[in-house]
Amino acid sequence: MKQIHVAKHATEAHLVKGFLESHGIEAVVRGEFLTSGWGELPTDLCAVWIADDEQYQRADRLLVDFLSGKLARDAAGNSWACARCGERLEGQFTACWKCGTPRP
Ligand SMILES: [Zn+2]
Repeated sequence: MKQIHVAKHATEAHLVKGFLESHGIEAVVRGEFLTSGWGELPTDLCAVWIADDEQYQRADRLLVDFLSGKLARDAAGNSWACARCGERLEGQFTACWKCGTPRP
């Protein structure tokens, strides 16, 4: 067992797990229910572990590509172009501030 990725939340951990499994790498998510102590909020941190240490390097390389690709897509998804005037707009706008055309 080798830890391959520490996720900020369970959703991310499961995304990574699913990705690795789609490449034939057996993975588990650990730490979802970790608490830092009685009466305290559970931590959201959880880690993805791979079952086969020998697949670590391959998994690591796949994951780096996956995560950088995901970040690139996230960034691209945050901005959009107005269909009418072509203005580039930040993700928080739901309509073009220039001509008022709603986000597609
Ligand atoms: Zn516009």
